[in-house]
Amino acid sequence: MASCGDTLLYIRKRLIAAGCDAPEMEADILLALTLGVSRSRLLAMRSTSMPNDQLAKLEALLARRVTHEPLAYVTGSMEFYGRSFDVEPGVLIPRVDTEVIVDATLEVARAHPNPVLRILDLGVGSGCILLTLLAELPKATGVGVDLSPLCLKVCSRNAEKLVVQSRVALREGNWFEPLTGDEAFDLIVSNPPYVAEKDRESLQPEVRDHEPPTALFANDDGLEHYRPILSGAKARLQANGAVILEVGFDQSKAVSDTARHLGFEVETRRDTAGIERVVIARMRG
Ligand code: GLN
Repeated sequence: MASCGDTLLYIRKRLIAAGCDAPEMEADILLALTLGVSRSRLLAMRSTSMPNDQLAKLEALLARRVTHEPLAYVTGSMEFYGRSFDVEPGVLIPRVDTEVIVDATLEVARAHPNPVLRILDLGVGSGCILLTLLAELPKATGVGVDLSPLCLKVCSRNAEKLVVQSRVALREGNWFEPLTGDEAFDLIVSNPPYVAEKDRESLQPEVRDHEPPTALFANDDGLEHYRPILSGAKARLQANGAVILEVGFDQSKAVSDTARHLGFEVETRRDTAGIERVVIARMRG
């Protein structure tokens, strides 16, 4: 009978043959998930026999991963800002780059005169931005909007996991459309779809072929959604409010210019690769 160590070697070979980037780490993750143990526990199990009744489960997970389904969809979760978020096909997987918008928003929030902030997240997806902010700012409340009922379902599950469900409301619809009456916010955050159609082919197959296109692609070189978000935000921002947006690697200038034309004062923040990744737009006066 094969040992767990042998099985790890077998998984690695399958992952290498499929061209996966991190076969050793992914093999550990897939076997630990199959066996229902932690990765550190798995380390101590190399010479243990691989239970035969777990092989079909392992093969099912591997079959998904070798067709370049993202590992996060296969495992059902992704780490973001030190917390685990549920994800599934149809929900954009949280990116490490997006932690920059969380840092920028926390910086604005902590300098804000109002200690009880109301935050709106447009295109909330898994909830990684909004729910992280609520977890980090225990007095804040939030509204998350998304077009996708599936995203709202997963986001609501994540809100319970992070124990912030009593401070968040989720609404289905397009950008500001599901807001009611004169609802207004101190902070409006968004990581809208911003990948230009011309860049589609340069994306990894994991992203291009498996993640939701409506969360990724946008017209006008990816800039399509920034103007409606910024102009709509003017009617929904409280005094001292700010709009905080994630942008693509070459979009900071265009989005900053749009914001200035609409009367905002603008600052930007860079990601760890030095790319201007976040635009902070505040209303003058
Ligand atoms: N950063 C993501 C990617 O390049 C895109 C996310 C988005 O369009 N908002 O895969």
